[in-house]
Amino acid sequence: MSNPSNTNPAAPAPSDFIRDIVAQHVAEGKYPRIHTRFPPEPNGYLHIGHAKSICLNFGIAREFGGICNLRMDDTNPTKEEVEYVESIQADVNWLIAGWADKELGLTPAKAPFYASDYFDQICEFAVVLIKKGKAFVCDMTPDQTDEFRRTGKASPFRDRSVEENLDLFTRMKAGEFPDGARVLRAKIIVDAPNIWLRDPLLYRIKHAEHHHTGAKWCIYPMYDFAHCLSDYLEGITHSICTLEFEVHRPLYDWILENLDLPRALPHQYEFAKLIPSHTIVSKRKLISLVNDKIVAGWDDPRLPTISGIRRRGVTAEAVRAFAYHIGVTKYISLTDVAVYEHAVREDLNRRSLRRLAVLRPIKVVLTNYPAGQTEELEAVNNPEDENAGKRKIPFSRELFIERDDFAEVPPPKFFRLKPGGEVRLKYAYIIKCDEVVKDAAGNITELRCTADLDSKTGGATAGRKVKGTIHWVSAAHAVDAEVRLYDRLFTEAEPEKDGRDFKTVLNPKSLELVTAKCEPSLKDAKPELRYQFERLAYFCLDRDSAPGKLVFNRTITLKDTWAKEAQRA
Ligand code: ATP
Ligand code: MG
Repeated sequence: MSNPSNTNPAAPAPSDFIRDIVAQHVAEGKYPRIHTRFPPEPNGYLHIGHAKSICLNFGIAREFGGICNLRMDDTNPTKEEVEYVESIQADVNWLIAGWADKELGLTPAKAPFYASDYFDQICEFAVVLIKKGKAFVCDMTPDQTDEFRRTGKASPFRDRSVEENLDLFTRMKAGEFPDGARVLRAKIIVDAPNIWLRDPLLYRIKHAEHHHTGAKWCIYPMYDFAHCLSDYLEGITHSICTLEFEVHRPLYDWILENLDLPRALPHQYEFAKLIPSHTIVSKRKLISLVNDKIVAGWDDPRLPTISGIRRRGVTAEAVRAFAYHIGVTKYISLTDVAVYEHAVREDLNRRSLRRLAVLRPIKVVLTNYPAGQTEELEAVNNPEDENAGKRKIPFSRELFIERDDFAEVPPPKFFRLKPGGEVRLKYAYIIKCDEVVKDAAGNITELRCTADLDSKTGGATAGRKVKGTIHWVSAAHAVDAEVRLYDRLFTEAEPEKDGRDFKTVLNPKSLELVTAKCEPSLKDAKPELRYQFERLAYFCLDRDSAPGKLVFNRTITLKDTWAKEAQRA
């Protein structure tokens, strides 16, 4: 039976400019072992963009027999929380599960590393720089510092003696000064063309508890100082990040090169981040969608967060296939979310169990079918997987079909059910609509039909063809399910185009709730399996389900309805 934990049939290993560099280094024997890292800041949940970076970093480790560390880049105590650390760990483990085979030397990201575990060593490195006359304590206000750096002017504190710097830094660490009173800065070039080399900040005072180090520290290293040193301390060989860090690279190198370190130094490589259409991937904005309750939480299936994607029913294999498909380049561009959706459909098509369910039911009574009779009809579980087997579905006199599959006044080329017309019920009989029953208000309450009892699928005269085939469930046997029909969260490809407020282009139809009538086998639906409700979409069981209460999430429709809309427009 299909199982979402199955690994992909051997996908060809991708190739890109970073992998080419790594392959070259492997060929040269430059490092004893390739070592990468994925370094999220635990100030939010991971999203599909991070997934690209995870697949790249863990993927390289996997393909080149190396190791990849998951490292919490936790240098900012005030924005970080344990909840984020835990979610990051869970998301990374989910995404690389089935990939993290020991023979390949891939660390399974079970026990993450923390930059904050290196605070003692990072602090000692700061002292080394001070002693070498390469760092100084600066008393300017943050605004003054910004202004001086912007205009390329030297701080009046730049030429403090080593002794004074050591004394002040020790007292900063001891908690003698309030937040913002002083910082430690590197002494590089005050008017360097690259602003990051203009005596950048290395340490700041923050009297704040840290989620991992508690109250131990009141000074915290800046990202640029902590990052290269964490890479060095972990023995990272290839420090891969997104393009906005390209301008930081000279500083990354300067810090490492000025510490006379004994071991090989890591090197930084940059690639273009993923910018998917019809969504947003800024952590700050995702937080605002959650806080403003526009979505139901971080794992709302409409969000591009890894936890949202997972809850929506997308598999890790699909995300990895997508990441491999889009590749890694230096060119920033918008990636049409349809590319992602295509990867999701391909994956679900392969693994999903086919089931019959009716989302918006209308009742059909087969007037020539005996009341009280039930037949078990045979249905294929997954035409894409011959091992998936077959199942029985009950058929009886009263059925539900999809309201959309009947038209009293059919448009041209309508091959489903219409008054006087015929249609095949999937796996069953051809039926003909004889009568439309309405209530006093004119709403259709029932369709009275006759079945051609010789036309049973697989039967002797089943060869008789009609143009349309529709799905159905037996009314007496149907089980109810709450079905959450998710769609894209934004109507526009670039929600923030030209400075627009992204909240003005939210898709009002991003979630619709219906109570579906499902074939009885769905009573035993399992959260780890994936389902295709035939002719409709792919679904998964939501974690809100309970015994006697089924809740399904629509992962994705069978066809790209957005492309059709765009063509029509
Ligand atoms: P912040 O604004 O909080 O820094 P961030 O998105 O950069 O947000 P990080 O936690 O710093 O988040 O990211 C961890 C890693 O993921 C970094 O190496 C970063 O380069 C990479 N990354 C972040 N966003 C994307 C993206 N959209 N595509 C690919 N990689 C990304
Ligand atoms: Mg970042």
